[in-house]
Amino acid sequence: MKNVPRNLTFAANWKMHHGISEARAFAEKFLALTAPSDGRKLWFFPPAVSIATFAAAVKQRPDIAVGAQNVHWEPKGAYTGGISIPMVVEAGARLTLVGHSERRHLFGETDEQVARKTRAALASGITPLVCVGETLAERDGGRTEQVIVRQLSALLQVLDVQQWRDVVLAYEPVWAIGTGKNATPDDAAQIHELIRMELGRNGVSFYVPILYGGSVNAGNVASLLTRPQLDGVLVGGASLDPAGWADVISRGSEAKVRPSGGFDLVES
Ligand code: PEP
Repeated sequence: MKNVPRNLTFAANWKMHHGISEARAFAEKFLALTAPSDGRKLWFFPPAVSIATFAAAVKQRPDIAVGAQNVHWEPKGAYTGGISIPMVVEAGARLTLVGHSERRHLFGETDEQVARKTRAALASGITPLVCVGETLAERDGGRTEQVIVRQLSALLQVLDVQQWRDVVLAYEPVWAIGTGKNATPDDAAQIHELIRMELGRNGVSFYVPILYGGSVNAGNVASLLTRPQLDGVLVGGASLDPAGWADVISRGSEAKVRPSGGFDLVES
């Protein structure tokens, strides 16, 4: 066993905002407002057309990585409108979101497709940030646990234990995304624990980072990140303005408390 430092990750999902010129302007302002900090990762998911511009603009910053919001699992082919992993990698992406609730619920992406995309990302050497979470109806119907377990189970079926070392998860309750409602720190911590237990039951005994997402902003990021169960946040609306996002990052960084001193034991 050895000690490894746990990172704190701030991930920005720009959704269908910030085309090329806006992404360039964002980078210029944001870089002037922030500096690298030990153990802190800043991830950005611009729309596909802006990946190359944004990745080039931030390439001097080792703490910043850029990702795609969605990819196809096939490397090429007759998939009109699709974008493959080799394409986004060539543009500068080192990460991809997979299974964001808007992909699942607005575009009908299934658990099985999410699993295929995750496996393809890992096979290509990019980090999948896989989103799971329940809808309001599922939560009100007392089915949160069942839904999360089902979403994880699709991944557990196709990934071997070793592959989980390169996966990052995001718990994003669908009812909290873009609605202004966010889970309480206790709600979030409880589901993060459930996810970790479910992974452990399936032999994933090492630490898989889990971010929280759902209407995180400058006013609530500190209270969320005082929970040791949270390894960071995935943020949509509050990540669109460079000064606002730098403020969320700064408040969240100050709040993060690691009772263990910030280290976890993992198998060597
Ligand atoms: C998201 O897009 O993943 C998200 C959490 O959005 P918002 O922060 O706007 O709720």
